[in-house]
Amino acid sequence: DASHRVILYLEGITVTFDGFRALNALTLYIDAGELRCVIGPNGAGKTTLMDVITGKTRPDTGTAFFGQSLDLTRMSEPEIADAGIGRKFQKPTVFERHTVLENLELAMKADKRVRGTLRARLDGEARDRIAETLAVVRLGQVAHRPAGTLSHGQKQWLEIGMLLMQQPKLLLLDEPVAGMTDEERERTAELIVALSSERSLMVVEHDMDFVARLGGKVTVLHEGAVLAEGPLEQVQQDPRVIEVYLGR
Ligand code: ADP
Repeated sequence: DASHRVILYLEGITVTFDGFRALNALTLYIDAGELRCVIGPNGAGKTTLMDVITGKTRPDTGTAFFGQSLDLTRMSEPEIADAGIGRKFQKPTVFERHTVLENLELAMKADKRVRGTLRARLDGEARDRIAETLAVVRLGQVAHRPAGTLSHGQKQWLEIGMLLMQQPKLLLLDEPVAGMTDEERERTAELIVALSSERSLMVVEHDMDFVARLGGKVTVLHEGAVLAEGPLEQVQQDPRVIEVYLGR
């Protein structure tokens, strides 16, 4: 069944720092086209999980596959990015002095598949892709403004747009609405839900209202392993999850 094709397959992943297990035999599968939220208290291993997926950290043990055949534990960070895993860190990193449009062009130039034939394609297909992306992230009105003049929310959307230029199959977002206004949060929720129609997303988020707004399956991490998994309403009623979040 194609709708349940696993795009990310992690099994028994352990990462140790000085004897401390940041990830402890973690097992997690994400389906193609899925929007997955990952939650968990500080120190649960969320960042380490994203580091393993993107090749920044190599697990001590465990299996990590992307798609049918790509062994993430044997790939470098650039190889993993080229294979279609995009990651957005919490803080926006855009080129402040360049316009929104130029930022998207620069992001496209970083795409290895485009690089070789860039000059020819920037006139045609690439321009269409940039225009399309500007519309998706709703920055068409500010396309010619330097990125440094954008609001915090707009910078975050621009960076998501920059990631989209590389056409990721799986997009990892780290606390995408941190520091945003309510209105920006709602627009970001709409954007993420729209994005999830064409790719898989993994969203690490602390804001439970936002997680609820996104819908989909939630994975609760605790002490480097999956504590609970399912719809938010379900995991929120799980006594183990309540204990982890509220203490005793
Ligand atoms: P989260 O993102 O859920 O807050 P992290 O993945 O950042 O959790 O961290 C999990 C645990 O691993 C924490 O206890 C953290 O202190 C530890 N840790 C993370 N990275 C390192 C590192 N490079 N060296 C030592 N300990 C680390």
